[in-house]
Amino acid sequence: PAKPLFAEQLPAGLQTISNIIAVSSCKGGVGKSTVAVNLAYTLADMGARVGIFDADIYGPSLPTMVSPENRILEMNPEKKTIIPTEYMGVKLVSFGFAGQGRAIMRGPMVSGVTNQLLTTTEWGELDYLVIDMPPGTGDIQLTLCQIVPLTAAVIVTTPQKLSFIDVAKGVRMFSKLKVPCVAVVENMCHFDADGKRYYPFGRGSGSQVVQQFGIPHLFDLPIRPTLSASGDSGMPEVVADPQGEVSKIFQNLGVCV
Ligand code: ADP
Repeated sequence: PAKPLFAEQLPAGLQTISNIIAVSSCKGGVGKSTVAVNLAYTLADMGARVGIFDADIYGPSLPTMVSPENRILEMNPEKKTIIPTEYMGVKLVSFGFAGQGRAIMRGPMVSGVTNQLLTTTEWGELDYLVIDMPPGTGDIQLTLCQIVPLTAAVIVTTPQKLSFIDVAKGVRMFSKLKVPCVAVVENMCHFDADGKRYYPFGRGSGSQVVQQFGIPHLFDLPIRPTLSASGDSGMPEVVADPQGEVSKIFQNLGVCV
């Protein structure tokens, strides 16, 4: 695993976690949370002990995408630690479960709160912690990556030409931090209708990224109404339809991380 740049030692809360995977995107709305959640539930289905940390303080998606019975995080008053909530065996922490309104904070404060929430949580023994990163490659993202010893990063993008430039920024950030980018997920790349396949945003930027930056894996995730419906319903698609086309894509991604 990559060594954190500033932290002398691994934060206590993270010492029982074997692999920490960042799911990152350089823009909002490209499907980063969808990928993070479905990847986490796929790893759990493969037999791993898994947690999800939703690090997006401004727009937490986890409470919409999964619906645990207990929607408020509890505190351990003696140890002053946070106890994650849980849905189908996966541990969950999000600002959306913190019982407060949407935060209005400046960058350094956001970093402080994010790091505190992440490192004071009682994660317990985990094989994988999947971090749904805030979109972008600014200070908040960089600080988070420096505190957490990431094992690997997965970058999510859509096929539009412009997003190639954004992906390059993400790859550069992780490479500076010596975190391997194991896969790019090109989301919403195509849809099938009337027996034909359509590529509404064009083709080729994913393979350009893979070639140029030597990223070992590229996954195409199609536009699927069931993916957005399951995102809104609180049950991830890979849980709702474990034999489906989308589940197969995530199983292949799960093997890479
Ligand atoms: P981000 O985390 O990048 O902001 P989300 O994962 O929240 O993006 O996705 C944005 C919206 O698009 C959500 O409503 C989600 O359900 C939907 N969505 C994401 N990927 C797909 C897809 N491949 N097909 C259909 N809808 C999708």
